[in-house]
Amino acid sequence: QAAALAGGFDGDNRLADGHVLPLLANVATGKDASKAAESGAEGVGLLRTEFCFLDRDTEPTHEEQVAAYGAVFEHFSGKKVVIRTLDAGADKPLPFLTNTDEPNPALGVRGYRTDWTSPGVLARQLAAIAAAAAEHEAEVWVMAPMIATADEAEHFVALATEAGLQTAGVMVEVPSAALTSAHILQRAAFASLGTNDLTQYAMAADRMLGPLAALNNPWQPAVLQLIKATCDGAAQAAAATGEPKPVGVCGESASDPALAVVLAGLGVTSLSMTARSLAAVNAVLKTVTLDEAQSLAQLALAAASADEAREKVRAALPVLDKLG
Ligand code: PEP
Ligand code: MG
Repeated sequence: QAAALAGGFDGDNRLADGHVLPLLANVATGKDASKAAESGAEGVGLLRTEFCFLDRDTEPTHEEQVAAYGAVFEHFSGKKVVIRTLDAGADKPLPFLTNTDEPNPALGVRGYRTDWTSPGVLARQLAAIAAAAAEHEAEVWVMAPMIATADEAEHFVALATEAGLQTAGVMVEVPSAALTSAHILQRAAFASLGTNDLTQYAMAADRMLGPLAALNNPWQPAVLQLIKATCDGAAQAAAATGEPKPVGVCGESASDPALAVVLAGLGVTSLSMTARSLAAVNAVLKTVTLDEAQSLAQLALAAASADEAREKVRAALPVLDKLG
């Protein structure tokens, strides 16, 4: 409804002062990608590859993988597509990779960590991604989920480079990665904040449990501090390496228009969301300057609670009333 009132997304990714903040789409399939391209997304900020293979009990073949990834890349010729390697485990078990008997699956062998228990699957996936990228014109960036340390980032980037993928980054969704992003981003080309998991781990609240929803709220000031720490670390890594170190957000928080303003103010350089949220987020972002977004981010960071942060920021954004 908000998107309808915002009147669709015209693809103009600028704040009120002309500052560019690319808005990208989260997708899992070629069908999603086609819809995302139609709705004006500048690219794909998160291709969740595990969703291509949820029903499989054996590892998908090279050909199956190349076809699945190519089905997304073909809709974004000349545009950026950030593809995430298999994020299996916890809420997304893959029978050929994860063990569902773990006592704490969210803290278990999941995401990038499956490379330790099933060596070879990640390298084969990277080879398939590189082959699909070679068949299409999309600008393919690759990232690993659940990275916790700079050593893991270094190992992932080495594997991606070996496969011929030049732009390798990491998800920042574990608090340790947020707090050490300066080291991580001296090794990786970019970061993408997974605020769904970052919130779950910062608040020690399982994201699957309804009764914990109040804790599982990305407006929690502790989560905002971790996002700021990630962006500050990226700026340090950029200064140390002389290369830009973009930090996107691909968690659900990017689709909350008021929170999107705060994320921009905290130093995030792109936002990726479900395609149907693009119009509403863009409608609000274009009413603020980067300076104003930074002031609102300060207000949210200084709040004592998630509700206080949200209410203060929303009160300063009258355009939200028009969106309903
Ligand atoms: C996240 O954790 O915020 C994220 C984008 O990944 P997923 O929701 O797939 O875990
Ligand atoms: Mg995640």
